[in-house]
Amino acid sequence: MLEVGYLHIDNPIAVISSHNKPDYNDAAGLLLLDGFDLDEVPLEEMQACLETISQKGTGAFGLSATCSRDEPLLEAARLASRNLCLLDLRLSKIRDPIRLLELIPLLKRCGVTLSLRIRPEDLSNALLEKLNESELDIIHLDLRGLNGAGPKMVKKAKDSRGPVIMALADIGEFEDARNLLVMGADVVSMRGADPEFAQWLSGALQEYDSLSGWCNAPKHICAGGDLRGLAFCCPPVKNCPVLGALKKAGMSPDEFIQKKLSFAKGTPLEKGEGTCFGSLVWCCKKSKQCYLRDAALARIGLSGKEYMELKKKLAEELLS
Ligand code: SF4
Ligand code: SF4
Repeated sequence: MLEVGYLHIDNPIAVISSHNKPDYNDAAGLLLLDGFDLDEVPLEEMQACLETISQKGTGAFGLSATCSRDEPLLEAARLASRNLCLLDLRLSKIRDPIRLLELIPLLKRCGVTLSLRIRPEDLSNALLEKLNESELDIIHLDLRGLNGAGPKMVKKAKDSRGPVIMALADIGEFEDARNLLVMGADVVSMRGADPEFAQWLSGALQEYDSLSGWCNAPKHICAGGDLRGLAFCCPPVKNCPVLGALKKAGMSPDEFIQKKLSFAKGTPLEKGEGTCFGSLVWCCKKSKQCYLRDAALARIGLSGKEYMELKKKLAEELLS
C-alpha cells in the first residue's frame, strides 16, 4: 500500500515495542523495535534482534536508535540497510540541529531508509524546511499528549510537502487513527497498545483502504483539509478558501484549472454530465452525499473506489 525506500508497508499502522520485550505483531504494517541507545546497547544486540525478526517473517520492520556518537549510528544504518529495515532516528542524544542535519546525509549514504522521530516542540519551521530539503524518507511526529492539536501538526507537516509522515499518538479507537490519516498522516504509530486492538485496527484500516480506494483521503479544503483536498475543489470562481490553498501551494487559479483539465483529459473524470461543473474532476469527495455525482458515476460505470483512486492520483499530480 505504501512504498517508501525499500519498505513495503501494507497497512497504515505501525506498532512500536521495546526491543527487550518485543510484540511481534504480524498484522501491523510496520513493526518498530525501540530502545537502541547505542551508547549503552552493543550493535550485536541489534543484529540478534534482526535475526529473530527475520525468522518470525513479519512484514516491514524497523529499529529506533540514538547515540551521542556518529560512528555507531552509521554502523546501525549499514546493518539496517543490509536487512532492508527502517532506521528510526531518535533525537534524545542528538539535540543539536546542526549535527542532525549533517548526520542525515551521512546515514543516507549507507543506503538506509531513514525516519526521524521528533516532538513538535523540537520542530521549528526552519528545521522543518531543512528536513524537507534533506533526503529523509519519513518524518515521525511524536504527538503523544497533544490531544486535539495532533491532527493540526500533521496538516502543517503535510502542507510543507516533505517526506512521508508517520504520526505517533495515543490511539484508543478507529476515529483517533482516522483523524490523523485524513490530515495527511501516511502511517499512524502506537506504542504500548493492546496487541489485540492493534491487530484489529490494522485489519480494519486495510479493509477500509481496499473499499474506499484512498485510506487517508483528505477533507475538503473548506472543511479544514490539507492541500491534497484541492482534488475535490470546484473551479476557483468565487471567494472561498481554495484561493488561500492555491497561494500556499504556489499555484495560480488559472494554472490550477489547466492542471485539473489536463489530468482529466482522456480519463473517466473528464465525464460528468449533470454535475455542477460538467466534469467529475471538480466533484466532491465520495463520502459527501450527492445524487448528481453518483448518477454520473453510474452512467459511466465508475465505482466509488475507482473514483477515489483517480482523485488520489489527481492530488499527487496537483502537488507534484
Ligand atoms: S472550491 Fe469548493 S470545495 Fe474548494 S474550498 Fe471552495 S467551496 Fe470548498
Ligand atoms: S455535483 Fe455533487 S459532487 Fe459534484 S461538485 Fe456538485 S455537489 Fe459536489
